[in-house]
Amino acid sequence: MNRKVLLVIDMLNDFIKEDGKLYIGDSGGKIILPIQKEIENFRKEKDLIFYICDYHRPDDKEFNLFPPHCISGTKGAEIIKELVPFKNDFIIYKRRFSGFFQTDLDISLREEEILELELVGVCTNICVLYTAASARMLNYKVTVLKDAVASFDEQAHNFALKQMKDILGVEIR
Ligand SMILES: [Zn+2]
Repeated sequence: MNRKVLLVIDMLNDFIKEDGKLYIGDSGGKIILPIQKEIENFRKEKDLIFYICDYHRPDDKEFNLFPPHCISGTKGAEIIKELVPFKNDFIIYKRRFSGFFQTDLDISLREEEILELELVGVCTNICVLYTAASARMLNYKVTVLKDAVASFDEQAHNFALKQMKDILGVEIR
């Protein structure tokens, strides 16, 4: 059995909705439909969906770099209503850019004997890039769906796609 997992990264109100605390602009809205379709494809194949979610303390040190966002228990930290998870989906909470950093992600994937990941979500040059980097360093096979990732910075988005392809060996599809 060659199962793969879809990682849906940071599709949360604070990043994707116009009134969000760290709204990334309209590039975020454009990837909702492609992500919905990909989630549907994965469900049809009985492949697993993991939602990777920023989830900060109100005084998180990350707020030295970025305005406060995705504070645990707030509306802003919730997954957007268009992508509401099903009961059997996995939800992984993170406090740093990489979905693997001090979270349950790696152990959960290992328990399911997963070797292959597909990444969608935001931001291409931050949480997608650093999650892809961690995944590659742990030897997962990684694909990024280029029409289903987005950033507030188009140049950085393009750089990150190139970096993932050329340096991390990620398949960009
Ligand atoms: Zn954050």
